[in-house]
Order: sequence, then C-alpha cells, then structure tokens
Amino acid sequence: MNKSPHVLLIPYPAQGHINPIIQFGKRLLSKGVKTTLITTIFFFNSNLTNKTNTTSIEIEPISDGFDEGGYDSADSSESYLKTFKEVGSKSLGDLIKKLQDEGNKIDAIIYDSFMPWCMDVAVEFGIDGGAFFTQACGVNNIYYHVHKGLISLPVGESVSVPGLPVVEWWETPSFVHDLGPYPGWSETVFGNIDKARWVFSNSFYQLEKEVIEWMQNMWKLKVIGPTLPSMYLDKRLKNDKDYGFNLFKSNHSECIKWLNDKPKKSLVYISFGSAAKLGPKQMEEIAWGLRDSNVNFLWVIRAKEQENLPKDFLDKRVTEKGLVVAWCRQLDVLAHESIGCFVTHCGFNSTLEAISLGVPVVGMPQWTDQITNAKFLDEIWGVGARVKADENGLVRRGNLVSCIKTILEDERGDVIRENVAKWRDLAKLALDEGGSSDQHIDEFVCELMHEC
Ligand code: UDP
Repeated sequence: MNKSPHVLLIPYPAQGHINPIIQFGKRLLSKGVKTTLITTIFFFNSNLTNKTNTTSIEIEPISDGFDEGGYDSADSSESYLKTFKEVGSKSLGDLIKKLQDEGNKIDAIIYDSFMPWCMDVAVEFGIDGGAFFTQACGVNNIYYHVHKGLISLPVGESVSVPGLPVVEWWETPSFVHDLGPYPGWSETVFGNIDKARWVFSNSFYQLEKEVIEWMQNMWKLKVIGPTLPSMYLDKRLKNDKDYGFNLFKSNHSECIKWLNDKPKKSLVYISFGSAAKLGPKQMEEIAWGLRDSNVNFLWVIRAKEQENLPKDFLDKRVTEKGLVVAWCRQLDVLAHESIGCFVTHCGFNSTLEAISLGVPVVGMPQWTDQITNAKFLDEIWGVGARVKADENGLVRRGNLVSCIKTILEDERGDVIRENVAKWRDLAKLALDEGGSSDQHIDEFVCELMHEC
C-alpha cells in the first residue's frame, strides 16, 4: 500500500492563482502528501526566491516561452496562452521525465483550469489529473454552460444557469460576455475537463450549496476552500500565517502603524488586486470620493499605477486621512480591528478573504469573474454593496461614497455585518477537522493512497 503519494501542483502564473494552489499544497502536505509546486522560470527566478514560507513544498520551474519577461512581455494574452501551451507542454514533459528518472513517482497532476493542456501531458505519462478552479463554482457553471453552448448571452437579456439566480448578460464574467482583447480565455477555461479525474474548487459547500450539488452530478468535484492560510481559519497548521508568495514588496510595519491608532471598524481598505488597471479617470473619481467622504483609508495602488493619481491628491489634507501604499499584507490588514469596509475589485481570493475575515465589502468589479462575484457578494451572500458604474463603465465618486456610507453608517451596514460574521464562522467550520472542505481533502488523499 502506498503511504506517501506525490502530487505536482501547477498554478497559472499570477498572484491570484498561485495563492490558492500553494495553500492547497500545504493542506495536502499536512496530511502526508508530498507536493511539488511547478511554476514558470520567470516566476521562479523573480518571485519565488523566498521559498521558506512555502514550508516543505518543493518548487520546480518550467518554461512558458517568456523566461525573461513573463506575461507582460508577450504581444497579447492570446499569444501568451498559445506559446505557454506549446513550450509549456514540452517543458512539463521534460520535467516529469527528469523527476521520474531521479526515482520520484508522481501520483497526480493538479493543474490550474486556465492550463488544460497540462491534462494532455498527464495522459501522455499515464498520470491522473485534476483541474483546479480558482473561481467561484457559480462562475464556473456559467463558463461551463457557455462552453457547451447550453446558453447564449444576447445583449440586454438574462440567463438561467442551474444553482444560480437569474443573471443579467452583463453580470456574467467578461471573458464570456465581452471578449474584447481576451478572446483566448473562454475557450481555455473548460477545456479537457472530461479527461480530469478530479475537479477542485476554491470555494466551500455552505457558500454555494445549490450550484455545488449540481456540479457534483457532473464531476468528481472536491470543494476545498477557502484557501486562506490556516491561522486565519482553523488554526490547525501552526506556522501557516501567509501565502508565502508575493509579486510585490510591501512595507508591513508602515501599514500596521497606520491602522493601529484608528478607531475600531472605521477605516476603508481599498485594493484592486494584482492585475486590474483602472486608468486616470477612474482613479480620480476614487481619489476625490475618498477625500469627500472624509473617512480614514488605506489604498493599495501598485507602483506602476500610481502615476494615474491626480497630481495634487497626496497633499496634506488627504494624507492626514489616508495612506497610499504599493502593496500590503492583505490578510493582516483585513484582520485588523480598525477595518470598517473593503472596497474591492472582487477578485475571488479577495472575496473569500473578506468573507473569511468577516469584513463587509463595497464591490467595484473591473473584469473577468469579478463582475459576477460582485453580484454574489451583494445579492446572494448579503455581505456588501455593489457600486453602480455609469454608461461608460465609470464609477462616479458620489456612488462610491454612498456605498461606503451605507456600510459604515446605515442600518443596512448592521445587517451586512451580521451576514458576513455568519459566513466567516461557516468558512472556519469548512476547513476545521471534519468540516466539508476538510472532508473533501481527506477523500482526495484517501483516493491517492488507493484506500478508498
Ligand atoms: N494581495 C495582497 N496584497 C495587496 C493586494 C492583494 O497580498 O496589497 C493578495 C490578496 O490577499 C489576494 C491576491 O493578492 O490573495 C489577489 O487575488 P484576487 O483573486 O483577489 O485578485 P487578482 O489579483 O487575481 O485580480
């Protein structure tokens, strides 16, 4: 009987995709599974240098064809995906051969659903594969229905997808309703799923019960989230306090010092994640909205984006109230008692982090699944207010301020706080011993060990 299975974990190279897979790896490791994280040479060289935090997960590089500059050096996202598939398939195959020649057996390959070609490599080597979805199950189900041609999305109409309330066409992920410069993605997300032995999702049963039950009839779905570090949830992995991987550097003590002297539940934390680009007009609306609202705030604006701030924004009047940083330790910030609400782009990690740490949100989605997550946060989970954009897609300062005030000052804010506290407790339970996600991870380990 095999007591120590070995899995390869292959995230798509982006902050929001690596974080959940690393965490899944840590859980597997804690249950006796050897894990090897595979990332691109570009990420390996530039970002995974601090390997200590990823505990004993081993890390191996493969090429995406852009070893010097990564995604940003590709001509387009389409050409990145195409090259990654071509070069990555060969490079992954070479790595598997090398690992096997060195005497390593490999029991499963768990790959990000954005890279379905990994499943073909797994098949070539006779290894079981599992697709790992970093989006909400509800979002996945929309992708699935579009991919299979089961629904179409005519402009102005609404769609029905099993397990979800009616969704307006514009509330579906932009990869399917507004291809714009990203035509390659919708094809990618559900490719090869039928060949995968498992489908993993970074969600939790209670959060998306109906849609999960529907999807469980289709695949061997393992719902294993939320994949926050254990110390923010069940606290069973004692050293697991952060993801252990950061694309950008942060000045943690400056942020915490700023939060420490603010009243409880008063401060607005604003972040649009690792990739969204807002443009000068939108930044201006947020900037003056924050000034008008007179609230204390911490705003993450990545270094390259800071030039889009109005020139006179960081004058004394504003800096007395707000701190702008290029990056922060988001989990520590969200867990701080001064935080009153989180203005978020609704990336799914940020969504789950807000829910798991009990922080109400103002949803200001930009693209992809964020648009759908914002609907879920507001209308289904009741943990926030979705801010309206105008006909040009711009969120005006008045709308933003009114959503912030709703959370911080209105009665509706109290209801939202109660809801989010309920979800926070359920998220913890899901990962705790015997919880739904813990059980799904156990089942997977048991299947790997051929004991189930
Ligand atoms: N994050 C962080 N510091 C920041 C902003 C974001 O550590 O200043 C982390 C955040 O905790 C989350 C991830 O980056 O885990 C962003 O993932 P998400 O899915 O929210 O958005 P994406 O970056 O993929 O758009």
